[in-house]
Amino acid sequence: MRVTLLGTGDTTGTPTVGCDCDTCTAARERGVERTRFSVHVENERTGESLLIDFSPDFRYQFLRDDVPLPDAAVITHIHFDHLDGLGNVFRVVDSLEVYAADETDPQTDKSVAETVRDDYHYLDPVTVVPTTPLETVHSCGLDVTLVPVEHPPLVCYGLAIEDPWTGAKLSITGDTSYDIPEESRAVLADADLLLADGIVPASLCEHHPLGGRHEDSEGTPRTFGTKHMTREGALAMAEQLNADRTRLVHLAHFYPAEEAFEEPLAIDGEEYVL
Ligand SMILES: [Zn+2]
Ligand SMILES: [Zn+2]
Ligand SMILES: [Zn+2]
Repeated sequence: MRVTLLGTGDTTGTPTVGCDCDTCTAARERGVERTRFSVHVENERTGESLLIDFSPDFRYQFLRDDVPLPDAAVITHIHFDHLDGLGNVFRVVDSLEVYAADETDPQTDKSVAETVRDDYHYLDPVTVVPTTPLETVHSCGLDVTLVPVEHPPLVCYGLAIEDPWTGAKLSITGDTSYDIPEESRAVLADADLLLADGIVPASLCEHHPLGGRHEDSEGTPRTFGTKHMTREGALAMAEQLNADRTRLVHLAHFYPAEEAFEEPLAIDGEEYVL
């Protein structure tokens, strides 16, 4: 399984348009970036590729990292930075199965699968496959399991992707607070590579109108506001999930410049063979 981190940024990305903060400036100087979230998984045994989320930067990411177009895809939730690149497949991909959760979201009265189908009903190549969380589906020769996470007010899902032949396992937390349900943690556990949402360092919680939550024994918030894990929360989650290797993703330009490119914060284009 070859994993390429196409997009490792939050919803504005780094550099952010119109921003000359130290972190965006440092990114420009280093020639690195964090575009909106997407992960490419290539099954080298079958030659198929599975895409996790449709970044608005889809076209640019595929040109930049020169990875094969997807044969299937998963959408974790309906926020702009994860879904709104789907239109890019028009006239580029002949047919595409898109897996998305089938549970009704009380916030929208629709499941993620229904929202994707309704919003992109004109996209003929796309077939939405409503998928029950915590039940494993088989796609691109891989076992894929969506797991509920906590990203209020919308439903959102993390996922585990396993190669049944080699046992290689990739886990992705999705956009989530530290409050990932126990049965979801069990599915995400023991990955060779974990991609964990660590949007900002815990020190920035004082700037969030809602502050931080889910403090550890030292009082350090593991959740930023209500929707995302702090860096410290993501690292604690990685420890809990017993991941072999962890990269933090969905990173904001609010990281102070001197911390923004430290390990284990990911940048776009990283590639891992599991
Ligand atoms: Zn900036
Ligand atoms: Zn989100
Ligand atoms: Zn997001």
